[in-house]
Amino acid sequence: MTGIDRRTLLAASAAAPAAARAGVAPDVWDAIVVGAGVFGAWTAERLRAAGQRVLLLDAWGPAHARASSGGESRMTRSDYGPDEIYSRLAHESLGDWIALSARAGLPLFHRAGVLFLFQQDEAYARDSIAVHQRLGLRLDVLDRAALGRRWPQIASDDITLGLHEPDFGALMARRAVQTLVDGFVRAGGSFRRALVQPPADTPTFDAITLADGERLRARRFVFAAGPWLPKLFPALLGDRIFPTRQEVFFFAPPAGDDRFGPARLPGWADWNGGNIVYGFPDLENRGFKIAEDGHGPAIDPDGGDRTASPARIAFAHAYLARRFPALASAPLVESRVCQYENSANGDFLIDTHPAWPNAVLLGGGSGHGFKHGPAVGRLAAALALAGTPAPARFSLASKGRNQARAVH
Ligand SMILES: Cc1cc2nc3c(=O)[nH]c(=O)nc-3n(C[C@H](O)[C@H](O)[C@H](O)COP(=O)(O)OP(=O)(O)OC[C@H]3O[C@@H](n4cnc5c(N)ncnc54)[C@H](O)[C@@H]3O)c2cc1C
Repeated sequence: MTGIDRRTLLAASAAAPAAARAGVAPDVWDAIVVGAGVFGAWTAERLRAAGQRVLLLDAWGPAHARASSGGESRMTRSDYGPDEIYSRLAHESLGDWIALSARAGLPLFHRAGVLFLFQQDEAYARDSIAVHQRLGLRLDVLDRAALGRRWPQIASDDITLGLHEPDFGALMARRAVQTLVDGFVRAGGSFRRALVQPPADTPTFDAITLADGERLRARRFVFAAGPWLPKLFPALLGDRIFPTRQEVFFFAPPAGDDRFGPARLPGWADWNGGNIVYGFPDLENRGFKIAEDGHGPAIDPDGGDRTASPARIAFAHAYLARRFPALASAPLVESRVCQYENSANGDFLIDTHPAWPNAVLLGGGSGHGFKHGPAVGRLAAALALAGTPAPARFSLASKGRNQARAVH
């Protein structure tokens, strides 16, 4: 956290009246946060910790089955090629995840490590190495022989370079968000399950309307609706956030074989000629995870089909046979369809609504947002409380209208 942002949050905390932290629902909340995914939950918690009386709303509950944050596991890594800003945010966030995990009953973070695999010399790999050196982050640079010795269960004949981040690993996504919201409520924050209507086009903004017509007033608002942002703000974000259909598979490792568990295999991402495939070892015995990072077709987060497609299952089997040969005939034990809520280039959206300075638009996690939740929450809270702008690449003005992904 930068000095200025920490000061902002501490000053707001000191200024908050004691009455605002106690008792019944107020007529006017200090802040209402719409969306209890990872971005909204961390923002609500930051605002609460700054002394604000906060109401967090979600139509289906924290990290529910269709939320982007509702998956089993999410990778945290600092490898971001040239995009140092994300390496910094990931590193900053890791400490908060570890602290939250230490307070939780079950682990929220598995320090399994993360391994990037490259078939040839890639600018992304060179840039990642340079960023890690600049930031003083640990990164092991491994050639094919070293990879083969350390992880013989990976077929690495075509790999020329491996980058291993020993300090990162897996976040247990759904459990982490639900733990965070539970702590938020125990500490005095309020959570309510309710559907918020798309706001009307008014010159100023001081209340949201729920599906049953109830109006809730607040001094400031944060709309962290993930892939539903285009539905809440169709004119503004309908062509700036693109939800895409992403399939995730879990395969059972061979019986009695621990080569594919987190003690012997890190989380991994295969550059695969730019068509990145990634996954996790058999975390908490759920199965060996594999997913494609390339954008799938467009999906409606409400009604989109969530059954796995034979074509993507066949791809996963073929990939396993090539990269993890011992899993070539591993049985598929679970599949999930989730969605990325992509901005045009993959940068997040953390900015005020163009007409309402007291309303923050928050989203665009673009398939890589989860790990950054703590840092994103800090940026969004500072913007909502004190108008401290987030970095320019998170502005609404920077959001294009054509999908041209650049951040990986
Ligand atoms: C398959 C997959 C793999 C991923 N892998 C990674 C990874 O390895 N590492 C990583 O860092 N990130 C990863 N991501 C991305 C990350 O999960 C998302 O960027 C992040 O979870 C987005 O969080 P969010 O809070 O913006 O959205 P969400 O989690 O979708 O939360 C938005 C919430 O808003 C609520 N809401 C919407 N509209 C309304 C309304 N009108 N009224 C009330 N509530 C409303 C919804 O119910 C929802 O709960 C992955 C995503 C997917 C789908």
